[in-house]
Amino acid sequence: MSNVELIGSEFNEDIVRGFEQRIAEVKGSIANSCKKAGRDVGCITLIGVSKVFPVSYAKAAYLAGLRDFGENRVQELVSKIEELNKCDMRPNWHLIGSLQKNKVKYIVGKTHLIHSVDTVDLAREISRKSVANGVVTSILLEANISGEESKHGFRENELNAAIDDICTLDGLKLKGLMTMAPIQSIHGDARPVFSRTKKVFDSLKGYVKAPNEWDTLSMGMSQDYDIAIEEGSTIVRIGTSIFGDRSKLPQ
Ligand SMILES: *Cc1c(COP(=O)(O)O)cnc(C)c1O
Repeated sequence: MSNVELIGSEFNEDIVRGFEQRIAEVKGSIANSCKKAGRDVGCITLIGVSKVFPVSYAKAAYLAGLRDFGENRVQELVSKIEELNKCDMRPNWHLIGSLQKNKVKYIVGKTHLIHSVDTVDLAREISRKSVANGVVTSILLEANISGEESKHGFRENELNAAIDDICTLDGLKLKGLMTMAPIQSIHGDARPVFSRTKKVFDSLKGYVKAPNEWDTLSMGMSQDYDIAIEEGSTIVRIGTSIFGDRSKLPQ
């Protein structure tokens, strides 16, 4: 099939070239941050956050080489998975936004990683549905290290108890933590939160039941991924710098 047949009439070769360029720029910045921090660039996974953008953008980004996609809403995730599947495009899909228990059934078996597990009850439901479907679901615990009221996630002092419970559940692979910098943080403000999260992440490796599986720290978005990498992130979730400004999309 030609690209126009794959993506639809809105496809345009320039769009793919644009994605190639922006992905290369982001990868260049990732490499710089790794160099600065003395880290191996192979330890960093780049997720392109395609949320809000039409599925044609996700397909074009796939053609440009992107193989990890993040979505924050279940409905949109499921429909993009189906649309890309039809084109035989099978990237790793990440759920990065909050997940309601009653929607777990729609995504179990379809995600590479769920970043946003923020209650033990939710983990229990993912476990139940995973066992019922004969799959193992990789998850991260969302950590609210800055302790902001408005944020989802476990507070630092809640993580050990949550892990005690979650480690007893079947059908789950507990891989690490996800965090977000304080809301409306300006460049620089993110560092103390990222640095603290990395410390907590490291110390929990000695606490979890399967420390060999505890290897993933998801932190860093378009405005702060350089800092996140310097502080030890292994996954960065990049929307705007790859896909553009979501607020400028026609509604
Ligand atoms: C939207 C979103 C991102 C990407 O944000 P950008 O600032 O556009 O890079 C990353 N992580 C989460 C959880 C998001 O909801």
